Amino acid sequence: MARLFWHAQPESLTIAHAVVWWFHFILVMAWIAWLPFGKLWHIFSGSLNLLLRSHKPSGHIDKMDLEDEQAEQFGVGALEHLSWKRLLDADACVRCGRCQQNCPANLTGKPLNPKQVILNVRAHMEELYANRKQEGAETKNLHGNWITADELWSCTTCMACVSNCPMGIEHLETIIGMRQHLTLMESDFPQEVIAVFKGMENNGNPWALGSGKRLDWAEDLDLKPLSVEPEHEILFWIGCAGSFDDRAIKVSRALVKILRAAGVKFGVLGIKERCCGETARRMGNEYLAQTLIGNNVETLAKYNVRRIVTTCPHGYNTLKNEYPDFGGNYEVLHHTELIAELLQAGRLKLTGASHGAGGAVVFHDSCYLGRYNDVYNPPREVLRAVPDLELYEADRRRARALCCGAGGGRMWMEENLGSRINLARIDELIASGAKTVAVACPFCMTMLTDGIKDKDLTDTHKVVDVAELIAARLSDA
Ligand code: SF4
Ligand code: SF4
Repeated sequence: MARLFWHAQPESLTIAHAVVWWFHFILVMAWIAWLPFGKLWHIFSGSLNLLLRSHKPSGHIDKMDLEDEQAEQFGVGALEHLSWKRLLDADACVRCGRCQQNCPANLTGKPLNPKQVILNVRAHMEELYANRKQEGAETKNLHGNWITADELWSCTTCMACVSNCPMGIEHLETIIGMRQHLTLMESDFPQEVIAVFKGMENNGNPWALGSGKRLDWAEDLDLKPLSVEPEHEILFWIGCAGSFDDRAIKVSRALVKILRAAGVKFGVLGIKERCCGETARRMGNEYLAQTLIGNNVETLAKYNVRRIVTTCPHGYNTLKNEYPDFGGNYEVLHHTELIAELLQAGRLKLTGASHGAGGAVVFHDSCYLGRYNDVYNPPREVLRAVPDLELYEADRRRARALCCGAGGGRMWMEENLGSRINLARIDELIASGAKTVAVACPFCMTMLTDGIKDKDLTDTHKVVDVAELIAARLSDA
């Protein structure tokens, strides 16, 4: 290039240099000035969003201050109720569509599209910015204008959107915030949920069964509650499903058998246990959830509980990640983690035929165990330790696993929109070739068992909990 200018005069070169320099300078400055208004802005807002992302446990719901007598608003009803981080989320979206492609609600034809939820918040921000000079320009209620109740109640809180988003956007916080507004400010929730809230409020369980019947399932097992026998090494948090749902009770019995076989000194709360509050929280009923959590934290403190095991990933997540905000700090284990620990320590001796004789088993990852708490390996380690079983995997597994459709209170709501999520998931699981589906969650158990029934596969396929597979192979089985 220099040869081109070989014979030019130094004066003209100096001028040419100045012209080129100023041209570049203006170009760069104009580009910088344009950046916030163009698509490239997302490189910056996205990087900022990732840098400032929350380091709280995945899907953690912040404690709402219900004592504040001046508060006129709970949850998210309008743009100004969203935190700066939720607004930055909206700015950071690059419309890649990964959240949408992995959303079980969207995949099964429901009106919810997590990408659109975020983009609607952005569109509202942009509209407000464009109208800023107009007299009376103000934020509209997000509900009805930018999002419908059907969209919000379609969410299973599975976290697939959050875990697949490359920009660290937390759709779920926005969705839960909007649900809190519907529930607490407008009492606008699906009709079938009324009985569930009442059951939790009056009986401490969503089935609305007598709280005094919590331990009826264990009459023949001689389980002594902590009020009678306070000495314990670990508390078995039975949970509402484990106490009242016939199928989940079998899993509770299996775990009791395992704990006894391993010589673990465990205690139970019995009739003092209340719903952990998880479902009420995800349905936006923070008031009810905090009442239940407060009761439980008090009871657990009374019996000096430090270590807890539970068969329910929803209770596990809430006890482990959300009870600390209410003064309850415990070491919480999911039963598959404890069983893996006991097997590794040689405290459980399994019987069984040779490798693979019991057939193939495919493991379904529960969202609240996997995406919420990164517990992917313990259930698989337990299944691999069973000599006669062969572990198969579904195409969509671990962090990419499809939800069963029951989270976020969906367990208690009719699924009238689109097709059924549990049927989509059961198709994926049986496509693995396994005839046995292993689960580690009472909600997954219900949804996938229903899926097998609806597909008329009960003669060939079954759904079992990991604990049941182990209990059936203990030497005195
Ligand atoms: S949490 Fe799950 S169901 Fe809800 S929007 Fe995200 S991907 Fe969809
Ligand atoms: S995955 Fe994240 S960046 Fe991509 S469309 Fe969804 S919200 Fe936007």
